[in-house]
Amino acid sequence: MKIVAIRSHVFRHPLTHELGYSQAYYSERTAHFVEVVTDEGLIGLGECFGAGTVALANRAIVERTLAPLLLGEDALARERLWHKVYNGLRDHGQKGLLLQALSGINIALWDIAGKAANLPLYRLLGGPCRQRIPVYGYGMMLRREAGLANSFADEARELVGLGFRALKMKIGLGPKPDLALATAVRQAIGDDIDLMVDANRCYTAREALPLGRELERLGVAWFEEPVANEDRQGYRDLAQALDMPIAGGEGEFTRWGFRDLLEGRCVDLVQPEVCGLGGISEYLKIVALAHAHFVPVVNHVWGSNLSVAVNLHLLAALPDLPGGIAPTPPMLEFDTTESRFRDAMLQRPLRILAQVRESGGSVGLPEGPGLGVELDWDYLRGYAVPA
Ligand code: CA
Repeated sequence: MKIVAIRSHVFRHPLTHELGYSQAYYSERTAHFVEVVTDEGLIGLGECFGAGTVALANRAIVERTLAPLLLGEDALARERLWHKVYNGLRDHGQKGLLLQALSGINIALWDIAGKAANLPLYRLLGGPCRQRIPVYGYGMMLRREAGLANSFADEARELVGLGFRALKMKIGLGPKPDLALATAVRQAIGDDIDLMVDANRCYTAREALPLGRELERLGVAWFEEPVANEDRQGYRDLAQALDMPIAGGEGEFTRWGFRDLLEGRCVDLVQPEVCGLGGISEYLKIVALAHAHFVPVVNHVWGSNLSVAVNLHLLAALPDLPGGIAPTPPMLEFDTTESRFRDAMLQRPLRILAQVRESGGSVGLPEGPGLGVELDWDYLRGYAVPA
């Protein structure tokens, strides 16, 4: 089965209200999908991490740099093709955009493999390891408004009302305002709901340590990206000083990047982003590395419902570590903020919010061969960013 075309599509829409994290406020949503077309009629779908103008650059990398290396190749030889691209372009991109572009293609090749075998991806990966996956609600993004703590408290109560038993909020306005935000959310949701806090690498370790001690008193379940990816020693110092788990890794790439994070005992929870780090082939190697170090994996998910579907399969096929009669299952991260790239763009909806509401916080396994996802191109056409 030969690859005869690789197509790359970017879509975007303006947000009703701008949303922020510690690095920026943004006012539009972007999605970048890749189609790999074979001579047997099977088409694989993938998604590339990278919003805004990054998606435009990644589209060019997919179409102009990677497609010429892959056209005419065996669509089932995804491992060989990964290394053909990575080794061939090593001098130009061991991290960053090249890997994000390669991720979308690799995910599409796994979709093709699942469709060719008529098996859902999680079975191809040797699962399922579980029948239900708990979901945490990601929301409480920063906004330029007075009284943000009250808004965060209201939003957190709404998410609990939707059935979520675990929530994640943004911080990043400075230690004092951050503590006020986290305190307001904790008071709003009580002690029975898990609360995670995400700083998106805006602090030095010196700043993050006292803030971390306060967050620990609030019973925060993990402190995500307290410091910059490159600050391995800062990560290590925080992980050693705090009882609260330190999470990170969404901005890391390939087995070699994660090797350094894990060998250095920088994180207590590792958060690989499959649409950025190199795709599913590379994700599996990172899971093996994480498990070799007994570090739990909690996938980073940020993107459309295509990436949600990919992660549902990966989480379904993620073995328990270390195992037992009452293991802690990995959670699906689900972004509850505004996006038109969720169920409306799918021919068969995932119904994440409906399942969370019906079950009190979890979802079942996806169906269908490969990723089990087909896009509604007519719907998406209205959001297309011209080449
Ligand atoms: Ca994050």
